[in-house]
Amino acid sequence: MLSIFQSLVPKEKWDIKCPYAMKPEYIVVHNTANDASARNEISYMTRNDKQISFHYAVDDKEVIQGISDNRNAWHAGDGAYGNGNRKGIAIEICYSKSGGVKFDKAEQNAAELIAMKMKEYNIPLSKVKRHYDFATDKKRCPHRTMDKGWERFFTMVQKAYEGSETASKPTAKPKPTTSTKYKVGTVVCTNTLATSSTGGKVYKGDWKGTITKVIAGAKYPYLLNNGTGWTNDTGIDTDPHVPSTNTGSASTSKPAAPKKQTVTLPKTAKEWRVYKTNVAPIVGNECGKLKPSKFGGLTYEILAKPQKDVVTIQTQDYGKVNIYVGKGTGAIIK
Ligand SMILES: [Zn+2]
Repeated sequence: MLSIFQSLVPKEKWDIKCPYAMKPEYIVVHNTANDASARNEISYMTRNDKQISFHYAVDDKEVIQGISDNRNAWHAGDGAYGNGNRKGIAIEICYSKSGGVKFDKAEQNAAELIAMKMKEYNIPLSKVKRHYDFATDKKRCPHRTMDKGWERFFTMVQKAYEGSETASKPTAKPKPTTSTKYKVGTVVCTNTLATSSTGGKVYKGDWKGTITKVIAGAKYPYLLNNGTGWTNDTGIDTDPHVPSTNTGSASTSKPAAPKKQTVTLPKTAKEWRVYKTNVAPIVGNECGKLKPSKFGGLTYEILAKPQKDVVTIQTQDYGKVNIYVGKGTGAIIK
């Protein structure tokens, strides 16, 4: 388990270190480029009077927080109004100068911390960025994480994100969560296209293509037509241009959803749990929460009704999920 300790910058230094209130939208990954522990990184940052700051330092043993998530920090090299500096939670991975086992463990801990923050603030994987992605001077940070492979680290974050959803089940650990049941050469239809195997921008629509590459374990393991985009087992089938919603398996006695029904989650609801379509929709199994009140209510097309009082919807942040809409929840089905 991750040990997280706070050692926050004192308020009299907020002017220098974290002058602005912040609502986190990004996670910005850094390497410290030295061999100090997380505690030492944070205490050095706190002590000096430079306009350099970051929220977390992570080493092989623990996470130390120096700035609270609702204040900005100066770390991304994108100026006073940049998204990195004003909307990003900065995470420094320690021991990157020399690398080795301590660095590797620190990276693993950082992946877990990132997964935790993604959930806490509803931050999608596509908004987990490198310092390099923001820096106007294109500073090569996180240098060692990039040397070892950013894509590889991204996968670690993704696994931590998916793993912690099922952390209570000891069996759920080593298996890759995305299967690769389709092979290179298979002609498929899909309603999901991502710009990279790890996510990036994800589009919804109706595409047909031939699988030209498979990356087992990736979030979007199938490449279509050598570059049209990446897709996964959600909404894919081998039946050209037949929507994937249950048409293939008439024998499963799932009642088909009537055409174009919608469900509205009222604006009075602060949070609404969502569940992956392959788990029971009960508290504890949720993979995230929608925030209807934040958007003045949310309306979705109902894709399926897998069981009484449960509907399947397509969400931007969690993909295709089930939600509970039983009596008393306030959900309106039209
Ligand atoms: Zn950096």
